[in-house]
Amino acid sequence: MNKVCPVCNKLQNVTYTCSHCKGTMVDKGRVQDYTDPYAGQFPINDDEDYCVHLYQCLNCNEMERKSVSKIEI
Ligand SMILES: [Zn+2]
Ligand SMILES: [Zn+2]
Repeated sequence: MNKVCPVCNKLQNVTYTCSHCKGTMVDKGRVQDYTDPYAGQFPINDDEDYCVHLYQCLNCNEMERKSVSKIEI
């Protein structure tokens, strides 16, 4: 059994609700794929159970890190 990130592997379209305006947040890629200004704020930890993605609100453009639960395939 293998755990993979459903977002990285395009298995599921995972969206979140913006904590500021309740708008829809969409995936902007893995945090690892970004450097400035997001790199270095937190240690990058490719966790066994989570994949950390950057999500951006379509309404207010707020960006947040989200831990996407990996799924077993
Ligand atoms: Zn991922
Ligand atoms: Zn928003």
